[in-house]
Amino acid sequence: MTSRGIINTERPYCSEWLEADLQKLFRFFPIFKLNTIGYSFLGKPIYEVKIGEGSRKIHFNGSFHANEWITSLILMKWLEDLLKSIQSGVNETITNPTQILQEWTISIVPMVNPDGVDLVTIGPPPNNWSTICKSINLGSDDFSQWKANIRGVDLNNQFPAKWEIEQERKIPKSPAPRDFPGYTQLSEPEARAMLDLTVTNEFDRVLAFHSQGEEFYWGYENYHPEESAYLAQIFEKVSGYKGIEYIDSHAGYRDWFIQAFQKPGFTIECGFGENPLPLEQFDKIYEDVKKIILASLMY
Ligand SMILES: [Zn+2]
Repeated sequence: MTSRGIINTERPYCSEWLEADLQKLFRFFPIFKLNTIGYSFLGKPIYEVKIGEGSRKIHFNGSFHANEWITSLILMKWLEDLLKSIQSGVNETITNPTQILQEWTISIVPMVNPDGVDLVTIGPPPNNWSTICKSINLGSDDFSQWKANIRGVDLNNQFPAKWEIEQERKIPKSPAPRDFPGYTQLSEPEARAMLDLTVTNEFDRVLAFHSQGEEFYWGYENYHPEESAYLAQIFEKVSGYKGIEYIDSHAGYRDWFIQAFQKPGFTIECGFGENPLPLEQFDKIYEDVKKIILASLMY
């Protein structure tokens, strides 16, 4: 069972549990750096874990989309497995942690959209936010389908990779639970924090974790390098997830990364079913996805 250990994978996640888990992990395994790369619209810290001393730089992120919070749990569970394997060497998930951390510097932002995640798993914040969120949500109190940040902007539609196309063709022209790209690109603090982090670090690879579909996207226009196809083949083989080169989408974080840096970028659609995915599926999803994460560090 993956529920044994520090990260409890049997309850819905939120920014408070994330913060507590990061502190707990740091207490037991003080071998990573914990950075705050920015703040959400409501002022919650957006955390980055940095570990390893390698010259190759890889970045993982989760919960760009609010009701895909299971991706934060996946990354935190993987971080716990990595830390345990370094300390004890008995964890069977990651057998070569020392080599990985000599070769790579790993950056993990487990929860890009803390306000949105908290809205889905806890409910609207105090004061007049409950009225605002309910009105963005077309009068409904059920926030389970909410993907956006707290202001109703889809953070994965905010990036400067043909953003104008998405603005033009996306149905919502004002704040909405999903798909609204904002009135301008990079209008939201969460998107800006991710862009700044990525520009500063010039990652060699990025994997953005979303749910769901048991597939992954690896191309953008003609900007992706040959290495992307090579890695996609490996990811397919180890996980059984289906690799898709092109989807009709722009302005995503990964789209922008590939266009700006011409380096491999992947959107991994974890699990299969209706978001938010039930936690009963966690163990199975984790089994598949950790193989992709490991492969991204071994090839
Ligand atoms: Zn998503």
